[in-house]
Amino acid sequence: MPLFFTCKQVSNHLSKEDYEKLSPLGKVSLKFHVLICPVCGAYNRQVMKFQDMTRKLRFREEQLLEADSPDAPHLEAEKREKIKAALRAASAEKTAEPSPDALTSGSETDSETKAG
Ligand SMILES: [Zn+2]
Repeated sequence: MPLFFTCKQVSNHLSKEDYEKLSPLGKVSLKFHVLICPVCGAYNRQVMKFQDMTRKLRFREEQLLEADSPDAPHLEAEKREKIKAALRAASAEKTAEPSPDALTSGSETDSETKAG
């Protein structure tokens, strides 16, 4: 692992997965690059901030689910059934054959004759 990342390497790492998964040295190199780089710094700092947020949200959600907390995200049974029904209806619509009329429509336009 090189000590200094290029812009391309930084972008590659950030697009693949959470930068927290990099080695400690990799993380330092990446953070250092985006701190000083006038080319990709501003953009990639945003990307890292976004990854931080999603990581924290995921962590919080997992905690709530594990604790079986009433605050844990869940759907009421009634809403769940409504979503299932909507999905079934949508997939039934998708698989339906398109009407043959739709394919052969369009009449030939007659050449316009102007009186006058
Ligand atoms: Zn850069």
